Amino acid sequence: MCLLLCSKEEKEVRRQQASGACPNCGGKVEAVDVGIQWRFFCLPLCFIFKRKYFCNLCSRRLVLYNC
Ligand SMILES: [Zn+2]
Repeated sequence: MCLLLCSKEEKEVRRQQASGACPNCGGKVEAVDVGIQWRFFCLPLCFIFKRKYFCNLCSRRLVLYNC
C-alpha cells in the first residue's frame, strides 16, 4: 500500500502589470508570481516559482509566447 503524504501549498508572491493585451477582450494582462511549496509531513521539500498570466477584465488564464 502506498500513500502519498505530500501536500502542495500555493501562495501568491506578487502581482504586476505585463505588456500585451488579452486576445479575448483586449483587457490588460497581469503577471502573477506564485510560489509553490511541496511538503512531506512538516518538512518543506522544495519551493518553486511559477509565473502565471491572467486577464484583468475577463480573468482568463493566458499563455505567453515569446516570438
Ligand atoms: Zn480578457
